[in-house]
Amino acid sequence: MTASYAVGIDLGGTNIKGGVCTPDGQLRFRRSIDTQAAGGVAHVLGRMAELVDDLVRDAQLTKTELAGVGVGAPGPMSHAAGVVHNAPNLPGWVNVPLREQFSAMIGLPVVLENDANAAAFGEYVAGAGREVHSLVMLTLGTGIGGGIVLAGKLWRGHFDNAGEIGHLVTVPDGRACPCGQRGCLERYASASAVAERLCEAVRAGESSTLKAKVLANEAFDARHVLAAADAGDALAARIWDETCQYLALGIVNLRHLLNPELVVLAGGLSNAGPRLLEPVKAHFERLSWKIAPDAPRIALATLGENAGMIGAAALARAGLGF
Ligand SMILES: [Zn+2]
Repeated sequence: MTASYAVGIDLGGTNIKGGVCTPDGQLRFRRSIDTQAAGGVAHVLGRMAELVDDLVRDAQLTKTELAGVGVGAPGPMSHAAGVVHNAPNLPGWVNVPLREQFSAMIGLPVVLENDANAAAFGEYVAGAGREVHSLVMLTLGTGIGGGIVLAGKLWRGHFDNAGEIGHLVTVPDGRACPCGQRGCLERYASASAVAERLCEAVRAGESSTLKAKVLANEAFDARHVLAAADAGDALAARIWDETCQYLALGIVNLRHLLNPELVVLAGGLSNAGPRLLEPVKAHFERLSWKIAPDAPRIALATLGENAGMIGAAALARAGLGF
């Protein structure tokens, strides 16, 4: 067998997920381990190396049968240099030459990619986008990550930072974002922002069935907001609808900028399924132009948490010329 398999790793602050993928993007074996991020860079890289060994054993392969390893990692990075500049959930990860160090540890070529890009490429290869040539993916979690695939290739941008869809400015002088801007899309339409905006409205005096939870500082999230909306809570319903409207607005702008065939909604908020997708589509239809039939299809992601591994493996193969 030639080197046709690749390993994809999805490095997160809590878990490291890894899988062996076939050339057509099928995930064959997967494992998930604790990151143990507090142990620092060398410790985490050591755990990733063990993960690769375990996966190779699971798949009954030898390392020479692997094209290489793709790593999807959080935070700003240089794909070209293989360096993670800053990963906020991984203590000590500042300007880490991951590609060089990890490749030396495992004796295999390594390709480094932004985790949101890797997940978008995964959906392109084997998920919601496997029949299309171009897509934009929005990962709706704590923030909003994004990835852009154009004509079958990941678009990284000149500075490797394309697809930061969460920081498209949506409201002039709006809610402050940790990035330093104001009014970023993720401050309105991420899973975290949905719960935050409801809390703020209640504290400002609006009534809601969630008021007791808010005032008691109980933890709650977007799922509670949606459940309250579906149970007839007017404030929760308004916050949910506004969230869908902000997302639709972002998609209108992406349509005009990139004219993609497909927009994929992923991440925690997308677990709401049709309760997210249908209102987003309805607002998109209402807000966007009708002068040309160039609207993208809007769909939910299908690979869940496997997208990052599958995409990282596929990018490794592509980046290494397989
Ligand atoms: Zn921002």
